[in-house]
Amino acid sequence: MPKTDRAKLKDKIKRRAKAMDINMLGVAPVERWSQEPHQSPDFWPQNIWPWSRNVIVMGMQLFPSMIETTPSVVYSELYNTTNRLLDHAAYRIANFLNEEGYRAHFFPRDCYGDISALVKRPEAAFSQVLAGLYAGLGTVGMNHTLLTRKYGSRIRLVSVITDADLPPDKMLKEDICLGCKVCVKACPMQVFTPVEGRIVADMDKHKCALCHQKLKAEFHYPCGRCIAACPVGEDKRRYGREAISPQGIEHCRDFGAADAGTHKRGLLTAIK
Ligand code: SF4
Ligand code: SF4
Repeated sequence: MPKTDRAKLKDKIKRRAKAMDINMLGVAPVERWSQEPHQSPDFWPQNIWPWSRNVIVMGMQLFPSMIETTPSVVYSELYNTTNRLLDHAAYRIANFLNEEGYRAHFFPRDCYGDISALVKRPEAAFSQVLAGLYAGLGTVGMNHTLLTRKYGSRIRLVSVITDADLPPDKMLKEDICLGCKVCVKACPMQVFTPVEGRIVADMDKHKCALCHQKLKAEFHYPCGRCIAACPVGEDKRRYGREAISPQGIEHCRDFGAADAGTHKRGLLTAIK
């Protein structure tokens, strides 16, 4: 495909995504999975879908004033809403590409049937975080999430896999993570163990999944305290230090979940 046509197609995709409230979009050629490997070849898109050429990664922000309330039904609803919108947007971009004559489908943003599956095996078949890294949307932080300049860790991701020839986005050269360990301290399960000389901490994913299992049973899944607390992001500056008042957080937590009306007893009781 001539260069101008590639650029035009990408532009069309971007405009469609923007019209669906997508905040960020980047394109990663599948070769990046092998050029900078972070997972075994079983996870590389080109080994799962041999026709794949590019991965289009799209992100939607999580509003700080809602995620600060976590664990709460307010945050639960925000999480579910962005998930639905992302999957719809990804379906529609994949559908558009199919109509244009390309192969394309999407990998849904979470893709597990029940938290018990994550407790057993806390890993996804496809990492949206790594796709975001390869698509130049951000870098992986100490808390294992994608850190972006605009939204810090507060971004949900979905990926469209396609054989369309598209101009790639450059990967970021410098780490965005400050290494401040705020996320480490914010985790109620103490799942992170910082490693000297490396940005990304060791993580006990099983413990994180156990926390989520408990929160799901209490109707205020997911946790996300490590992403709410991360100080990186223009969104944090926009909302200021008090995105929501301390009593507002208590108030929101006190309704709609299994422990409604009892929240003032304190924060999440961690499973150790
Ligand atoms: S989601 Fe919650 S339990 Fe899991 S790592 Fe983040 S803060 Fe810890
Ligand atoms: S809280 Fe600090 S250490 Fe953790 S991911 Fe954010 S910037 Fe990195």
